[in-house]
Amino acid sequence: MSPRNPNLKSKEPRRRKARLPWQQQVNPAFADLWRARKENRERGGILDDKRADEALYGNFKRMGEAQRRLLQKPRGPDSITDAVWSAILAPLDGEVWPWPVSDPKVELKDSYAQNPEANSIFRTLVFLEHGITFRELVTRSEAQKGEEAREAHDMLLRVHRDWYRMRWEGRSFEAMKLRFNMDHFGIILDGIDYGLEKLDEAELAECLDDICPCGREKHSPDYIKKLKIEILRVCRKLVADRHPGTASL
Ligand SMILES: [Zn+2]
Repeated sequence: MSPRNPNLKSKEPRRRKARLPWQQQVNPAFADLWRARKENRERGGILDDKRADEALYGNFKRMGEAQRRLLQKPRGPDSITDAVWSAILAPLDGEVWPWPVSDPKVELKDSYAQNPEANSIFRTLVFLEHGITFRELVTRSEAQKGEEAREAHDMLLRVHRDWYRMRWEGRSFEAMKLRFNMDHFGIILDGIDYGLEKLDEAELAECLDDICPCGREKHSPDYIKKLKIEILRVCRKLVADRHPGTASL
């Protein structure tokens, strides 16, 4: 800025404020929890049973300890994380939920056969595959007519096919081509309140290289930037549009 005329802009380039490393911007308990989950997944590659058991035990201890530290800093009242999961799992009208019913008189063997659509993993699959909730998908397939109804039924059938692949062919969420990768969706949604949202794309990619259990050694900053924007957009819209039937969320 010129000392004679304060309105004249300085020709010196503006210096970008130095940013802290991602480790100092993200809640360390959050990072530890996801890192332990990542190591837990990797333990599948340990062939020696004894070493695998020891690694599993050590990881569960670390996960529990990180979770306790995280609980000391509860999410704020404006947090959308729990509301998003509640909306994804929201029951249909009149549906008994959660299932199976926690009635001590009902033995597990009596509660079969179960409806696969009533399973929380099925409902999560709907959202990861199509970006809308099970409740919304059923509403579209039942309330719409013509091409829209057919399209919604096709979407539901695609989830059933992926459910079969997961349930009976042993495919993981990660092995299926879904709109949102389960790990990336979970980590970004979980991290909103713990500093992840404020990371720039390079920091976020570096953070995920360290803590994400998906198996990639490197995350592309461009991909991860677009993904974060899309996940946050879909989640915020989901909470804003939630159905009156889920108003207690
Ligand atoms: Zn990843």
